[in-house]
Amino acid sequence: MTFRETIAAIATPPGIGGIGVIRVSGTGAEQIALRLFRPDRPVAALQSHRLYHGEIIDPGTGTLLDDVLLSLLKAPRSYTGEDTVEISCHGGPFILRTVLEAVLKSGARLAERGEFTKRAFLNDRLDLAQAEAVCDLITARTREGLAAAMDRLKGRLSGRIEAIRMELVDLLAGIEASIDFSAEDGILETSIADPLPLNRIIEEIAALAATYRRGRIMREGISVVIAGRPNVGKSSLLNRMLGQRRAIVTPYPGTTRDFIEETLEIAGIPVRLTDTAGIRPPGDAIEKEGIDLLWERLEAADAVLLMMDGSTPLSPEDREMITKMGEKPLIPVLNKSDLPQKVEERQVRELLPASSPPIVRISAKTGQGIDCLTGTVRDLLLSTPAGESSDAMIAHLRHRIVLERAGECLERAREGLAKTLSPELIALEIREALDALGEITGRTTPEEVLERIFAKFCFGK
Ligand code: GDP
Repeated sequence: MTFRETIAAIATPPGIGGIGVIRVSGTGAEQIALRLFRPDRPVAALQSHRLYHGEIIDPGTGTLLDDVLLSLLKAPRSYTGEDTVEISCHGGPFILRTVLEAVLKSGARLAERGEFTKRAFLNDRLDLAQAEAVCDLITARTREGLAAAMDRLKGRLSGRIEAIRMELVDLLAGIEASIDFSAEDGILETSIADPLPLNRIIEEIAALAATYRRGRIMREGISVVIAGRPNVGKSSLLNRMLGQRRAIVTPYPGTTRDFIEETLEIAGIPVRLTDTAGIRPPGDAIEKEGIDLLWERLEAADAVLLMMDGSTPLSPEDREMITKMGEKPLIPVLNKSDLPQKVEERQVRELLPASSPPIVRISAKTGQGIDCLTGTVRDLLLSTPAGESSDAMIAHLRHRIVLERAGECLERAREGLAKTLSPELIALEIREALDALGEITGRTTPEEVLERIFAKFCFGK
């Protein structure tokens, strides 16, 4: 596909750095380079995939703008599949903006978010699942998250989806043949009524959809909120887990008025740990607002570390909080194990659902029990240990939704087979399942979904 417009953007993050890269893509990219760029040694034409040293000159005024390295990547051997020019400038925001302006004045327009990747997708350099993986790769924060994104970029998920689609296409061909056959002779071809391949495909799709939770955790991490009444040691625990003192710790109740959020890595998973203001009966308006916000946070959290002070008897507030948590995955934590203990585990257990994980005794002060706590967090959130993903994994809700839709269509097709419904209806369901699966790789994805996906990218990617 050729686009009329040549696009350009700064591809490196804002701020000062060693270098900053401007990327130009489209049919006009080479012409723009020739207009702005003076190589050290004059050349008749720029060769593809060569690095040139030279100067960028403002074509209007002839002013020297920067000393750069420039490369031309001729179509289709570039990220976008189009002629692409990359200019490595000195990494200052002003230099980059000035050079970009010169590029724009020479005939390019500013690229939208993710537009380079969108062009790569539209030019078949990547499918949609791979394009999404590019974004996941950039935002990955742990080794496991990176490995999972890289796996998708290399096409593991796409390959799996295509394999399922091919099997369905075969199945559909059989059914469609039987439509012609039965139309001629008025008999239903019995061989298509074999539900075995369909059963297996339905199972495979369900298994893939079930990888969402793990995939999402790898990609986005999880959010864990430390809750508890004032002074039980929430800030101390956050500090202890971070291995450095970031949240403010004081011996007076109620100093953590706002949430403090830090990200750390537990077993390869990014964990956003939030230290909350203590839950107290709302005294004034500000306090009430804080408490409403806290419940919102708790609602959104993947898990809650419910902290109590083991060195003082359980208070009505502790009890109320435990019961208010409802079904939320919760780890009961008894802090201050270095002091004489006044709380028996039995008293806490009575208030918890039977399925809740074991009570963890820790001392945020000495560090005792912290390893056990991180292990419990990991076990609660992942049924399998991190780093064990050997098969295709989805990581976006969009993928799960379309897989479920495909699964439902195939269930209906299976029922149709059992009830010997007309092959036309069965074929219709299978075709719809094929369309749903095609949305993952971008074969059948509606334009507005594409726009939403690429809008999540950064500029210059
Ligand atoms: P928060 O209000 O729940 O965030 O509690 P803080 O972390 O501010 O701690 C309140 C007080 O308890 C501070 O004086 C801490 O030093 C103290 N504290 C926290 N954890 C422990 C612990 O494990 N053992 C002891 N002895 N004191 C602790």
